[in-house]
Amino acid sequence: MANDTKRFVYADNAATTPVAPEVIKEMQPYFEECWGNPSSIYRKGLEAKRAINGARERIANILGCTAKEIFFTSCGSESDNWAIKGAVALSKKKHIITTKIEHPAVLQTVAKLEKQGYRVTRLDVDNYGVVRLDQLEAALDEDTALVAIMAANNEIGTLQPIAEAAKLAHRVGALMFTDAVQAMGALPLRVDELGVDLLSFSGHKLNAPKGIGGLYVRRGVRIDRFVDGGGQESGRRGGTENVPYIMGLAKAMELAQEKMADNARLITLRDRLVRELTKIPYSHLNGHPTERLPGNVNITFQYIEGEGMLLLLDQAGICVSTGSACSSASLEPSHVLVACGVPIEDAHGSLRISLGHQNTEEDVDYIIQTLPGIVQRLRDMSPIYPGNEF
Ligand code: PLP
Repeated sequence: MANDTKRFVYADNAATTPVAPEVIKEMQPYFEECWGNPSSIYRKGLEAKRAINGARERIANILGCTAKEIFFTSCGSESDNWAIKGAVALSKKKHIITTKIEHPAVLQTVAKLEKQGYRVTRLDVDNYGVVRLDQLEAALDEDTALVAIMAANNEIGTLQPIAEAAKLAHRVGALMFTDAVQAMGALPLRVDELGVDLLSFSGHKLNAPKGIGGLYVRRGVRIDRFVDGGGQESGRRGGTENVPYIMGLAKAMELAQEKMADNARLITLRDRLVRELTKIPYSHLNGHPTERLPGNVNITFQYIEGEGMLLLLDQAGICVSTGSACSSASLEPSHVLVACGVPIEDAHGSLRISLGHQNTEEDVDYIIQTLPGIVQRLRDMSPIYPGNEF
C-alpha cells in the first residue's frame, strides 16, 4: 500500500505487475462455476479441460505455434529449470552454452548441471549487455546440446539477437532456448520468427497473477518430463492444472498485445527519464541506449549505494529496484552490471526503474523531481564523494 505521502508511483514492473481487472474478470468464473478437475471425464471436468485447451490455443496464436506446443507451469523459474534440465536429459551431448547475464533460474540450473559433469561455456556480453555472437560461434561444437540466451535482460533491459543465435545453434544441431520472461508482453514475440526450440514465460510480469508460467516446446523436440505424476500436460508435467490462472494468463497475453500500441509512449517516458536523470553529475545509463525493453531504465549514480536510494524513494512513495546487494540479500554486486564492465563500486549505486503501461507522465515528473535531491542527500553523507571532507 502507499505510504501517507502525496503520491504513490509503482515503477518496478520488471519485478512484478498488478493483476489487470480484465484478467480478474476472466478468472472469476473458473473459481466460482467452472471449478472441475480437467482430468475428470464427466461434464464438469470436460468443461475445465475445454477451457484450458482454449487458453492454450489463444496463447499459441499469439506466439505463432500450435496449442500442442504450449505447456503450463507454475512460474518462469520452473519453465527455465524444465527447459534446460529436460532438454539435456534426453540428449547424448554434454555441452551447454549460456551467457553471464542470465537470470539465476538459468544460471543456477546450468551450474548444477556443470557439477554433474556437463561442460559449460558462459558467453561474455559487450558494454551494452549484448551477447557476443562471435564467441557463440566459436564455442559451438558437435557436443553442444543446448544454447540458453535470454530474450531481454531483467536488470538492464538489453535485447539479445535471438534469431541469429538460433541459426548458429542449429548449424551444429544444438537446441536453442530463450528465457522470454521479461520480453513476453513487452514486445511482439513469435517463435517461428525467432527460430527457437524452447521459450519460457511467466504470468506475473504481464498483469496475470503470480504462480503461473508457460513453456513453448517446438514439436519434435525431445524434453524429459519435469514433474512425475499424472498424465497432465500431455504426460510431461504432472499436477492438476491451475485452471483460473491459465485462463488469466491467456487473457493477460491478449491484453499485452493490445497494450503494445502504447509502447511508443512508454519509450518516450523511458527516454525522458534517461535524459533527465543522467543530467545528475557522475551518473550513466547501463544497457543499450535503444535496443532495450520499452519501460526499462537502469542508471548508475556513483559514490552512493542503491539501497539508500531505494529506501528514500520508498519514503517518497516511489517503488523501484536496485541491481546490487539487496536484491540478492548479499553484498555481491549485480553479475549483469559486472559482466557489462561496470566497476564493482559503481555497480552498487545502480537503480532500475521499470515502467508499465499504467505509468503516466506525472509519475515520471515525480521521479525526476524527487530523485536528484535524494542522490544529493546521500552524496552529502558519502565519505567517498569528491569534495567531501571528513
Ligand atoms: N527469468 C527472468 C528474466 C526474470 O526476470 C524472472 C523474474 O524476475 C524469472 C526468470 C523468474 O520468473 P518467476 O518469478 O515467474 O519465477
